[in-house]
Amino acid sequence: MTSSTLIRNVRPLRHDPTDLLIVDGIIQEIAPGIMPPAGAEIIEGIGSLLLQGLIDGHTHMDKALIGLPWHSTKPSTTITETIANERQLRREESIDAHQQSTRHAHAAIASGTTHIRSFADIDTEWELKGVRGLMQTRDELKDKVQIQVVAFPQSGMLIRPGTVELLDQALSEGAEVIGGLDPSAIDRDPKGHLDTIFALAEKHDVDVDVHLHEPGDLGAFSFDLIIERTRVLGWQGRVTISHAFALGGIDQARLDGLVQQLLDLKIAIMSHGPSGGRPAPPVEYLRAAGVHMISGNDGIQDSWGPLNRPEMLNRAYLVCYRNNFRRDDQIEDVIDLITNSSADVMGIADYGFAVGKAADLALVDEENHCAAVIRRPTPWLVMKRGLVTARDGAVV
Ligand SMILES: [Zn+2]
Repeated sequence: MTSSTLIRNVRPLRHDPTDLLIVDGIIQEIAPGIMPPAGAEIIEGIGSLLLQGLIDGHTHMDKALIGLPWHSTKPSTTITETIANERQLRREESIDAHQQSTRHAHAAIASGTTHIRSFADIDTEWELKGVRGLMQTRDELKDKVQIQVVAFPQSGMLIRPGTVELLDQALSEGAEVIGGLDPSAIDRDPKGHLDTIFALAEKHDVDVDVHLHEPGDLGAFSFDLIIERTRVLGWQGRVTISHAFALGGIDQARLDGLVQQLLDLKIAIMSHGPSGGRPAPPVEYLRAAGVHMISGNDGIQDSWGPLNRPEMLNRAYLVCYRNNFRRDDQIEDVIDLITNSSADVMGIADYGFAVGKAADLALVDEENHCAAVIRRPTPWLVMKRGLVTARDGAVV
């Protein structure tokens, strides 16, 4: 049986006010004054802004502490210390990855998110609890939000024997992406780390997403090694470098050289507009050069800190804030970053505001799209593949 929905009078980005006819979850027609087919459900948009389904392209749902008592972040001066604090928290508290990722997903859906790439920690103590809990959430909520699961060696990989086998197992059980982490700074064996990650990518035919916090020349060296392996394996368009702080801490000639390689190999950069004044990828420069980019909220209220929230409009605001984007064209480009650009990096084929694409969208009451980024309203309606998933901030 065919199901049709007509949404009347909405305002998409850079588009005249329009109606939208959705048939079986797919956008069938975009035009003003569409006549509803017999039996169609009609939603009056009353001039609301239409946002394409928002994409959180980098988060950590298995370990979000949403809905639990306040966790006071322990002091740490290095990532190694932060990782040790996290392992201690897991030893002391029983964190249920399925429950926490479900809570996280509900908050994301209610704020207009339709797609998520989430890392799941895998280490020799936590083993596969995080990734299995997250995959359960992914499967249960697949009609409301599409979650791509990354098998991620958060505590280091080669320094903890047994981790590689666990990553391999997680990919066999259905994780869709292999993650890596600071190959020099954490594992202290950049060649060994990246060779292992890319071998797992080849074995399971999955994309690669490496957390690279390493600064300056050290980070740029890791870029060289990732670029080399992407080229040798023929993994063009299948590799993301997350955080990539090094791109904000090297001289212009070195940056230009790396950008040329990123373009050649379609390697994507994830930036979330980091706090703390750390050097960060220059978003405007990279976007203008044509580098593929993705963004996300990173960890939400976990042992790394309480600052991040699950709403992607808030993330768009923070990316603007960090990059000092004030002009409308700059702010609108960040909307592209958290929608079309992130979808492209994640390889979501049916994504886009066009006939034949899935009806993934959110409606908000706001003056224009730039104002929505600054004022960050809660959508009054969220839709995933033509089905209403949330109203007024609550999942239905
Ligand atoms: Zn992360």
